[in-house]
Amino acid sequence: MDSFNPNDVEIRSGHYIGGEYVEADGRRIEVARPSDGVVYASVPLADAGMVDRAVENAWQAFRHSGWARMAPRERAKILRRFAELVEADAPALGRLEALGSTRPIAQATGWDVPFTAEGIRFYAEFADKLGGDVTATDHDHLGMTIAEPYGVIGAIAPWNFPLVMASWKIAPALAAGNAVVLKPSEMTPFSVLRLAELAVQAGVPAGIFNVIQGDGRVTGEELVRHPKISKVTFTGSTRTGAAIMAACANSGTKPVTLELGGKSPQIVFADAPRLDDVARRIAGSITGNAGQVCVAGSRLLVERSLAEPLAERIGKLFAELKPGATWAAGTTLSPIISAPQAARIEGIVGRTLEAGATLRFGGARADGGTDGAFYTPTLLADVTAGSEAVREEVFGPVLTLQTFDTEEEALALAQHPDYGLAAGVHTADLGRALRFVRGLEAGTVWVNRYGRTSDFMIPTGGYKRSGIGKDLGRQAYEANLRFKSVLIDLRA
Ligand code: NAD
Repeated sequence: MDSFNPNDVEIRSGHYIGGEYVEADGRRIEVARPSDGVVYASVPLADAGMVDRAVENAWQAFRHSGWARMAPRERAKILRRFAELVEADAPALGRLEALGSTRPIAQATGWDVPFTAEGIRFYAEFADKLGGDVTATDHDHLGMTIAEPYGVIGAIAPWNFPLVMASWKIAPALAAGNAVVLKPSEMTPFSVLRLAELAVQAGVPAGIFNVIQGDGRVTGEELVRHPKISKVTFTGSTRTGAAIMAACANSGTKPVTLELGGKSPQIVFADAPRLDDVARRIAGSITGNAGQVCVAGSRLLVERSLAEPLAERIGKLFAELKPGATWAAGTTLSPIISAPQAARIEGIVGRTLEAGATLRFGGARADGGTDGAFYTPTLLADVTAGSEAVREEVFGPVLTLQTFDTEEEALALAQHPDYGLAAGVHTADLGRALRFVRGLEAGTVWVNRYGRTSDFMIPTGGYKRSGIGKDLGRQAYEANLRFKSVLIDLRA
């Protein structure tokens, strides 16, 4: 995909409610491009009244548009058309995504948009596959469970993969017959507006997929608390997830799906096949999107004899990356989302070094050729489980290195006191790999690879404080349904 001029991208702002863009007076939020810090647009902030308008609209559409009651294959057909429109819109949608987020244009167009489309298609296929069960009863009764949509789902998304993260929420919710009100991150508000527009073009009834703009404190909280929101699905930080869970408990004991933070280990044994490939996997898992990935493999645990050769290879791969604006075709290292986030990364690295860590590579701002914030891929050695960079989710391209001598030691180091999102195990020994699969407290374990494929059936979600429930897979579809139990006495 070619470079593009950021000033040429057409932005449509506002909320998207009932199939229309809605502008509003009142408070606005300025939106800056991560690549150069330039404020390029603003969005209205939805207050309680606007949130109510969106949710009420969604509720009316849920009840009266026919979406929930439509033949499921018909709903699937509309969602497949939606996926096709997303795919066909890849050049425009990719630019919109790249312009306002940390996703370089080649990746936004080549991965984010097609992955979003395929996710929608995957859930379209679920629409008529799961309607409930007939249960075993005595001969005089007929027992069953009937799957029903909740009503209006409140979805809240983060900034790191704006389209993909939103699609993981909206696709299963829509396929199951719900209406959705989505609040994107205030830092990346635009690409999902286009997504909602395409849904309506595909035939999703107006009001079934709505987008409201705003921050967490006002708009997010109002959405979560709204009495006509039946379920909340959230992706973001662990701290916000906890606040949302409390708000759900206090506003009608709403069910909640939470996809939260992580501090995922990469465990490498000396027998791991093809060291160059392992190095590429490790480096890729902490530099993709400049480490601003929930499942970033941020803690490298390596068998002592392999530590040096692996570190050297990782350093070489780090040096190959080219920081730059997301609209430049050759960019392979993303900008950091904002100046405060870059300062936070710097702070964690600085304090970890002051506490005794050794800087192997990086540890400084990078020059991306613009006024944006870039950070060099960094490797910190001589750290302990208590080091700040080992404990905290950095959300930047910062890898820590710890060594081990035994399997037991490796497993103990791998377990994080709080997080349990993902882990990678690299070894030629199948038994050992499976012992780690069993032993690791993590929602996903990758063996001799790192990162997901396009196997949407494999769900993703965290153990411990990394989350509750799953995105993707059958589980995410079921989580958008509630099950009614029916027992009929046949003797009446
Ligand atoms: P964040 O928690 O700051 O914000 C996420 C969203 O929540 C935003 O839309 C924000 O406006 C909203 N929000 C903030 N406070 C709120 C409140 N009190 N009530 C309701 N909504 C509120 O997270 P972020 O910085 O946008 O994203 C980065 C975080 O997301 C990282 O911790 C990362 O690990 C996590 N993440 C997790 C996954 C996963 O699948 N587990 C995927 C991507 C990102």
